[in-house]
Amino acid sequence: MPGETSEAAIEGAVRLSGSRITSVLALLGENVTEADEAAEVARHYQAVLEEIANRELEAEISVKLTQLGIDIGPEVAAANLENILATAEERGQFVWIDVESSGYVDRTLDLYRNGRSNHVNTGICLQAYLYRTAEDLAALLPIDPSIRLVKGAYAEPREVAFRRMRDVDRNYFELAKTLLDGVRRGGVRAAFATHDQRLIQGIEAEAAERGIARGDLEFQMLYGIGTSKQKELAAKGYRVEVLISYGTAWFPWYMRRLAERPANLWFVMRKMGSS
Ligand SMILES: Cc1cc2nc3c(=O)[nH]c(=O)nc-3n(C[C@H](O)[C@H](O)[C@H](O)COP(=O)(O)OP(=O)(O)OC[C@H]3O[C@@H](n4cnc5c(N)ncnc54)[C@H](O)[C@@H]3O)c2cc1C
Repeated sequence: MPGETSEAAIEGAVRLSGSRITSVLALLGENVTEADEAAEVARHYQAVLEEIANRELEAEISVKLTQLGIDIGPEVAAANLENILATAEERGQFVWIDVESSGYVDRTLDLYRNGRSNHVNTGICLQAYLYRTAEDLAALLPIDPSIRLVKGAYAEPREVAFRRMRDVDRNYFELAKTLLDGVRRGGVRAAFATHDQRLIQGIEAEAAERGIARGDLEFQMLYGIGTSKQKELAAKGYRVEVLISYGTAWFPWYMRRLAERPANLWFVMRKMGSS
């Protein structure tokens, strides 16, 4: 994280833009249970969109529906999302919708479809570790969706998700090929959000085989992870976007980052031991 405030995140985005890398800003926080707080999150994002426009910065935002009040009721999150999408559309900006744990997937897809029917400037994340994702993707393709493909960051039971990394990777690659077919046909925006070098190389090769121009192939990564790879891909002419998270509610997010890579845990423990 470049810092806890949206200003720090925007400064981070400005720095990345010097390497032809665009940004997605995301305010940390989830499972909001008060309607006022959820509405405040929406207003915060509307202000951030305005600031991005004022600074003529190429940056998008990514929202979590549990932060916009989906636990209070889908209509609460839908209203907050609508406000954000309308503000973004006025300025030609784009809004991603994160996908959280598996219990939220149906409601998230419903709200995405609903939002997408009024505003084209929105995309949704899909998680390769879920068995259901191939079907979800097939069902979305007719509406010309924008999809960010990830492996998935939540601890899911084997009833719903692949547990072995090689199965997740295999599924990711299959889903990626379906998305690339959509990009080649036109209408689909696909963003491959992964730091996995093998997958990235495989996707580069599949895209080239389909005659997809580098400028139409998009990779996304997390701020500060794989920085040299981000620059290398951008220099090769691919579209590269970096997710910059900010805010004070970093604990659950930080724990997911640790879980993704046990080496990070040792790094933190060593730091704690030496301080
Ligand atoms: C832009 C973006 C948006 C995302 N949105 C969502 C979302 O909405 N829902 C969701 O469930 N998940 C989301 N994720 C997280 C995603 O699901 C993965 O948990 C995360 O990207 C790590 O998986 P990987 O594909 O990089 O592969 P991995 O196999 O986990 O990692 C490949 C390699 O990348 C490096 N690496 C990966 N993660 C880390 C790390 N934390 N620290 C240091 N090195 C690391 C390591 O070298 C590792 O060997 C998002 C990720 C990105 C980049």
